[in-house]
Amino acid sequence: MNIPGTRPAGVYSAGTAQRYVNIEGRMPGREVVVLGSGDIGLIMARRMTLQGAKVKLVAEIMPYSGGLKRNIVQCLDDFGIPLKLNHTVTQIHGKERVEGVTVSKVDEKLNPIPGTEEFVKCDTLLLSCGLIPENELSQGAGAQMDDTTAGPVVNAKLETTVKGIFACGNVLHVHDLVDNVSIEAEKAGEFAADYILNGEEDWGEAVRPKIPEKSKCTLPEGRDAGSQIICIGCPVGCLITVNKKEDGTLEITGNTCKKGEAYARNEVTAPVRAVTSLIRVKGGSGRVVPVKTAGEIPKGKIGQCLEEIGAVVANAPVKTGDVLIQNVAGTSVSVVATGNIPVGNIPAV
Ligand SMILES: Cc1cc2nc3c(=O)[nH]c(=O)nc-3n(C[C@H](O)[C@H](O)[C@H](O)COP(=O)(O)OP(=O)(O)OC[C@H]3O[C@@H](n4cnc5c(N)ncnc54)[C@H](O)[C@@H]3O)c2cc1C
Ligand code: SF4
Repeated sequence: MNIPGTRPAGVYSAGTAQRYVNIEGRMPGREVVVLGSGDIGLIMARRMTLQGAKVKLVAEIMPYSGGLKRNIVQCLDDFGIPLKLNHTVTQIHGKERVEGVTVSKVDEKLNPIPGTEEFVKCDTLLLSCGLIPENELSQGAGAQMDDTTAGPVVNAKLETTVKGIFACGNVLHVHDLVDNVSIEAEKAGEFAADYILNGEEDWGEAVRPKIPEKSKCTLPEGRDAGSQIICIGCPVGCLITVNKKEDGTLEITGNTCKKGEAYARNEVTAPVRAVTSLIRVKGGSGRVVPVKTAGEIPKGKIGQCLEEIGAVVANAPVKTGDVLIQNVAGTSVSVVATGNIPVGNIPAV
């Protein structure tokens, strides 16, 4: 990323920040600006908020977010985090540590527009502006590269142009979903084993790997109107309109399925959310264990739920499914572990 500034501490990739928070149990900062509104940027804005940071805004250079509509709702709107479309960071301020950033509007050619600069005070800038494949090994091996994926060219059996070297996962192209990595990796492993056992054979021309289409999430008009709701029931993200009729009943339109109607009704009467967070662990091989509420809790109870989560320190061992808090925030819902932390020492970083 080419952003003018003095290179102070406090500028992280979203992945590094995620590692600090989710694995090391450390906060990268307290006042955060996120650059990039793909799903990872949106999710990190929520994660930082849930862990106690103030996310000032998410800036996106494009006129649309690359993330799912439901992530805009659940990660930004739920917490009142502004999304500034057509904006980018044009200056990083601070010497030792980030003290703020300048955010500017961009024109249709994505160039910053002079006079639109706005100073935003923060101690952390999270960059979530896209990834490139991990090319060190493939380029080092002399594999032919593909301009479209920025990873190596492979044939139908995931073999690169260097005989006997197979590619998968983020080496082949950037994957959003680890499930797809696992499937592809199994295939590559089988093809590699076949190559070892049966030797070289003609596996045909190089092909381009199929990359799932990215959604372009433009915000529907009227998003701020109280009666219009983006359904978070599935990635489609229908825009649902809720009108209160004279007799007090609700008229719900725009949903594609019944789930959407139920969601919209709840959303205007008693909105609920599941909460995910981290609980500190003592005496274990990790500092924190991921947790979630075993069911949905009222949206208004999220703050109290997080306070209770933040006050707990669990003793190792912790196993997936262990109840770490009962009746969180008086909701009669438990907070359960979603990971394992065995007894042990924290490995040196
Ligand atoms: C911030 C962020 C959030 C994400 N969130 C989600 C999510 O919520 N859900 C989801 O499904 N996916 C998520 N993803 C995507 C998912 O993490 C990736 O698709 C997946 O990790 C790719 O798997 P991989 O095995 O190809 O690469 P990686 O997981 O990156 O593993 C590559 C490994 O190889 C090691 N390595 C690199 N070079 C060498 C070398 N020369 N020698 C030896 N080892 C080497 C690296 O250290 C690393 O451990 C997220 C990604 C990011 C960046
Ligand atoms: S209404 Fe149905 S299809 Fe539309 S977003 Fe909600 S769950 Fe998905």
